[in-house]
Amino acid sequence: MSDKPSAVPLGKGGATSTDPLSGVAPEPGVAKPDPILVVDNVSKSFGGLQAVRVEHLEVQRGTITALIGPNGAGKSTFFNQISGFDRPDAGTWSFEGQSLTGKPAYKIARMGLVRTFQLTKALMRLTALENLMLGATGQRGERFLPAIVRSWRGQEHEIEARADELLKQFNLAHMRDEYAGAMSGGQRKLLEMARALMVHPTMIMLDEPMAGVNPALTQSLLGHIQALRDDGMTIILVEHDMDVVMGISDWVVCFAEGEVIAEGRPRDIQANQAVIDAYLGSKAGHEAEHTVEGES
Ligand code: ADP
Ligand code: MG
Repeated sequence: MSDKPSAVPLGKGGATSTDPLSGVAPEPGVAKPDPILVVDNVSKSFGGLQAVRVEHLEVQRGTITALIGPNGAGKSTFFNQISGFDRPDAGTWSFEGQSLTGKPAYKIARMGLVRTFQLTKALMRLTALENLMLGATGQRGERFLPAIVRSWRGQEHEIEARADELLKQFNLAHMRDEYAGAMSGGQRKLLEMARALMVHPTMIMLDEPMAGVNPALTQSLLGHIQALRDDGMTIILVEHDMDVVMGISDWVVCFAEGEVIAEGRPRDIQANQAVIDAYLGSKAGHEAEHTVEGES
């Protein structure tokens, strides 16, 4: 087991009387009562390697879904396809009932679905405020920045106000005019999240939001993620620490070799033989860096 503190702020995760996922069977591809994202037959190969092959997946609105699975299972590739940063070889997917198939990332972001990104070298040379203002453009690359800034005329104040509001919300107001490159790893993770929120998304995809964050900041990050869900946002996150997964998520989806091999509530997944086998199988070839309950 991980020796990170497991004092995850619990309470909303898991069954409650209003839990929209109560009664949903823990089966791969199972239908949800009110799916915000629906994926069908999305596949992606790199050379001879089939990285993603998702037959059917639904994400329930207003929940935190954890995407787990061994290294190389296709989680990041899946995020890239769904958020429009890369094109799958085949498949269709829709968000809020509207097709996203073939749409570029910035259009998908405008429709309300964004993914976070690690800050690039170029972004490290921008201040926290500038990073957020760039985020307002809905995930166009930084090469568009000059054109974007020209198009802001008259709107900058609104955008800046939104940026300041988010800096405050994420306890980064004091870093407003500091370069992102001068921030700690944890602060950068907060900035990445805040940046994605500039466009007022309804769903956010977080790829390992806790990676490289010291334990003291982990709690704060988790608190922010839960607060977003409690405000009605839908969150899907890739996370390796099983204590975190069990504590924070309403639903867990497990990938192995590009496919959804299991989904269900955290407690279903903890006891799922296919999940345990996938992690144990992968450990033969990988460093033992993942932990599944009962595995240690
Ligand atoms: P995960 O995020 O679950 O660790 P990835 O989605 O990063 O897995 O990778 C899935 C598989 O696809 C891995 O075998 C990886 O090496 C391969 N892969 C990912 N991106 C590329 C790429 N751009 N070119 C070639 N192979 C890739
Ligand atoms: Mg990955």
